[in-house]
Amino acid sequence: MKLPGEIRYIDFHTHSQGGGGDTVAVRNLMAGDEVPSDFPANTLFSAGIHPWQLTDDNLENLQTELLLTAAHPHVVMIGEAGFDRLRGAQGEVQYRAFLFQANIAGEMGKPVVIHCVRGWDELRRAHREVKPGRPWIIHGFRGSGSLAASLAEEGFWFSLGAKGLTTEVLQSVYHEKLLLETDESGQSIAEVYRLFEAAAGYDEQRAESLVRNNFKLLLNFNL
Ligand SMILES: [Zn+2]
Repeated sequence: MKLPGEIRYIDFHTHSQGGGGDTVAVRNLMAGDEVPSDFPANTLFSAGIHPWQLTDDNLENLQTELLLTAAHPHVVMIGEAGFDRLRGAQGEVQYRAFLFQANIAGEMGKPVVIHCVRGWDELRRAHREVKPGRPWIIHGFRGSGSLAASLAEEGFWFSLGAKGLTTEVLQSVYHEKLLLETDESGQSIAEVYRLFEAAAGYDEQRAESLVRNNFKLLLNFNL
């Protein structure tokens, strides 16, 4: 995908319609959702089996649904997928669902958007097992600086929203493997950029070109 000069913002993960104008938005679809027939310009999609959707017996259906959605040319990433110790199916089912998605992402050459709540051991185990060729991006990260640092060392990318933009985390991750998002916050992505600039000590232009380049790098592998 070419990013025209007028693009200022990339909203890496959102559940609402955010594209158009000066913003590229990656809207998240859950398995079973279809790519809408009509959507604003500069909208891309991720599609995945969210751990909250999973029960102990719907995995096979969701896998079939996901394969249909993921084949759409505007679906550029697989996810959000991952581990949630507080909600969703039991751990073993979550792990199977995740590996399925990591493997199709690998076959399709797409990055994976990760949802992870207290499931870091499982995520690391999957990462060691799959050894992905394309980045896995932990979205909505809100953990400590030391957790961020160890995950960054292992090769993970991060997508941060307003609540994750702490100085501690920004000192612990690689800024060339960093993206910004609104998720379900209802905030504008411009606001999230302003918080990032304040926390990282960047001016507008530097922040915008950094994230734009990271996003291009992430997806250009695909073209
Ligand atoms: Zn989300």
